Amino acid sequence: MIAEARKVAMEPIARLLLTHAHMDHIGSLDGLARALGEPQVAIGKREARLLPKPPAQDRSLDPGEPQCPVKGGFPGAATKPTHLLSDGELYGSLRVVASPGHTPGHLAYLDERDGTLYAGDALVTVGGQVEVIGFGPWFFPMTALATWHKPTALTSARRLAELPIRRYAAGHGRVVEGGPELLLAAIRRAEAKLR
Ligand SMILES: [Zn+2]
Repeated sequence: MIAEARKVAMEPIARLLLTHAHMDHIGSLDGLARALGEPQVAIGKREARLLPKPPAQDRSLDPGEPQCPVKGGFPGAATKPTHLLSDGELYGSLRVVASPGHTPGHLAYLDERDGTLYAGDALVTVGGQVEVIGFGPWFFPMTALATWHKPTALTSARRLAELPIRRYAAGHGRVVEGGPELLLAAIRRAEAKLR
């Protein structure tokens, strides 16, 4: 993984953005940060509590949040974030969009220049179809099993569907070209499963 990180580090990378603190999304963080020197490292303010290694890691839930334990692996990283992001702010070229549900502090990022939504695990495109995290596809259960609170994920998906999306780049699955109609269809499928 360090060798891979070194290859990536040959690029002029100044910023590392995290969508959430699950192990398959921060696995290279320490190696990359080391190889890059001192990159900016950004994560959501809420999610940042899950980024340190135990015992500094804080898995507690806030009073307004669904009171079910977070799911999935949070191994933690030694790298400390340099920027704590909040919903609606512009970080570099990307608009920060709070999208809790998969984890309590999950963020998606919209590149407003070309409509690319970096959805992290708010959505999944495995199989080539946009789905709300936790609601499919059946042959890829991993991210659903690691999802903290599905109804919250669905609420976040409705918010994401209001954005001027032109393509979906999710954490799992290939890039899918298309607008909000793809996500609206996914929301309808998810709502049918929730009933
Ligand atoms: Zn995840």
